[in-house]
Amino acid sequence: MTITLLLNIIRVMGKVVLIGCGNVGMSYAYSLVTSKNKVSELVLIDVNHKKAEGEALDLQHAAVYNKTRVKIKAGNYEDCADANIICICAGATQLPGETRPDLLNRNYKIMSNIVGAITKTGFKGIYLVATNPVDVMTYTVLRLSGAKPNKVIGSGTTLDTSRLRHLIGEVTSIHPKNIHSYVIGEHGDTSMVPWSCSFIGLNKVDQFLTEEQCSQIVKQVRNSAYEIIERKGSTYYGIGICLQDITEAILEDSGEIKTVSSYSKEHDTYFGMPSILSKRGIVRTLGLDMRPIEREKLDKSIKAIKDMCNDINFE
Ligand code: NAD
Repeated sequence: MTITLLLNIIRVMGKVVLIGCGNVGMSYAYSLVTSKNKVSELVLIDVNHKKAEGEALDLQHAAVYNKTRVKIKAGNYEDCADANIICICAGATQLPGETRPDLLNRNYKIMSNIVGAITKTGFKGIYLVATNPVDVMTYTVLRLSGAKPNKVIGSGTTLDTSRLRHLIGEVTSIHPKNIHSYVIGEHGDTSMVPWSCSFIGLNKVDQFLTEEQCSQIVKQVRNSAYEIIERKGSTYYGIGICLQDITEAILEDSGEIKTVSSYSKEHDTYFGMPSILSKRGIVRTLGLDMRPIEREKLDKSIKAIKDMCNDINFE
């Protein structure tokens, strides 16, 4: 057996269905099919089927440049039955000046239709949700689908964490992969950074950054989405890669830690916390040894998510 053949066998094999072929969905799809560990099958679904068809045709031409083959097509809900992962990026976008909670009711309706159609197929795989407000939408999917909490995952604060690492990297001139610092809580205005649990290499972050620099960085992380939306309308490349990274961690059974939105039984809600991913979904969410003031901030963030969840009339 040649090495190339062997490499092809250990590459990720899996069927992914993407629902919502807008900017976020297609950035994710493009990242997936151009990644070295791409999936073997990708099905695109959108309420605008013609758009899904156009995107599938376009993407097939990009996938030609990868070494392994991937089947790409525009499909329908029947394709969900044997999928490993369904990634939901369908939804209304955040308009300039609109907060994520404002999106809640518009996106809840969309989510009920989608999850209703998926559950009818007998889908047993993993739900990955990106639609905002993502923590609330992930909880919505849990409630509507009846799936086990470990199999319903939100993109959570993975994007915020990328933004944090990027900014710390800029200030310290250290590569983001050596920066072990996370944004946790809501993917939104109440997100927080537990600095007491943040490291660069093996050193505490306060050996590199002053308190003032830390608070400036947190502000910039929180404002990132608003800054981008104000200039170009929406954000999508960053989240596209985050979703690809989560998808591959699941399909590869990698055991990687990511700040996905995970279910907390204690709070009966979802929020971003470092969690271990495997092919079963979330294996474990890690507790953090935070300072009391950080714990308070996280509690406030969880409360903000719970308040939004309480506004939803689950039937
Ligand atoms: P978009 O408007 O470009 O795309 C949305 C797509 O969803 C459209 O193609 C639309 O036709 C489709 N759609 C709408 N209703 C549908 C339905 N019922 N079934 C199937 N498809 C449907 O928006 P976008 O920029 O791609 O953003 C999508 C979502 O992702 C938004 O909720 C946005 O706020 C969110 N988002 C999340 C993060 C994150 O970190 N989680 C980051 C950026 C954006």
